[in-house]
Amino acid sequence: MSLPPLREVIAQHNLRANKALGQNFLLDEQLLDRIAAVIGDLSGKNVYEVGPGPGGLTRALLRAGANVIAVEKDKRCLPALQEISQYFDGRLKIIEEDALKIDPATLFDGPFHIASNLPYNIGSALAVNWLSGQNWPPKWQSLTLMFQREVADRIVAPHGSKEYGRLSILAQWRAEAKIAMPVHRSAFTPPPKIMSAIVHITPKNAPDGVNPYKLEEITAAAFGQRRKMLRQSLKSVAGALDAMEAAGIPSDRRAETISVQEFTKLAKILSK
Ligand code: SAM
Repeated sequence: MSLPPLREVIAQHNLRANKALGQNFLLDEQLLDRIAAVIGDLSGKNVYEVGPGPGGLTRALLRAGANVIAVEKDKRCLPALQEISQYFDGRLKIIEEDALKIDPATLFDGPFHIASNLPYNIGSALAVNWLSGQNWPPKWQSLTLMFQREVADRIVAPHGSKEYGRLSILAQWRAEAKIAMPVHRSAFTPPPKIMSAIVHITPKNAPDGVNPYKLEEITAAAFGQRRKMLRQSLKSVAGALDAMEAAGIPSDRRAETISVQEFTKLAKILSK
């Protein structure tokens, strides 16, 4: 027995795309295998997947040898996912739930990877949750996520570019973030209006003595008024003007010219 093609699965289970759930399905199994391969060797590895839908990416992860726990909000997809679980001898566990309510660290005993063709409406919120937090390195070993191209560009943006902002700093101060592959809108069913890209993020050691909440506070203030000089935009952050002086950062600079390292240096001084 083999699994039916994804197009048939969608027809059989009447999975007409629901816009409110951000449903744009990927049906090209070769493309899905390439996305799974971005993570690296998956044999015997644990993967958390958000929004498996009809299960295209899920199948690719399982073909590569992973054990998958997938969280899907749309009941209609569950029978198709059960078939996949049976076919792969139970290496797929399915949870019917809103992914925003789940901390994947509670689902696995050991380390795990996170992979998702994310619903665009909650993609940034989920990524921000996974990248925030006091404990580092996190239990997840990598994030391999589909984003709208514009969001992907913001995540990997270097300082000095117009895409550079809070999301870039959050993704880069204690992790490596890169665009693994652009994905054309025509790869999706139905095609969205915009282009997409797969972003791959791996954690690295966090610089010592930086309170993540302090870093968040200064980047929020700095980019809240990104055209203003820091001496103006950081006025509301207690101690920030002294910290800039101590860090040797001239206060007439604007947020987008400040590198990730300079922001962490400021946050470290403010964390004392
Ligand atoms: N992984 C499939 C693929 O690549 O074809 C589907 C991707 S589709 C862009 C997003 C999926 O996320 C849909 O199946 C949708 O039902 C699901 N979804 C949307 N919001 C969700 C939420 N809050 N929690 C869990 N799943 C959600």
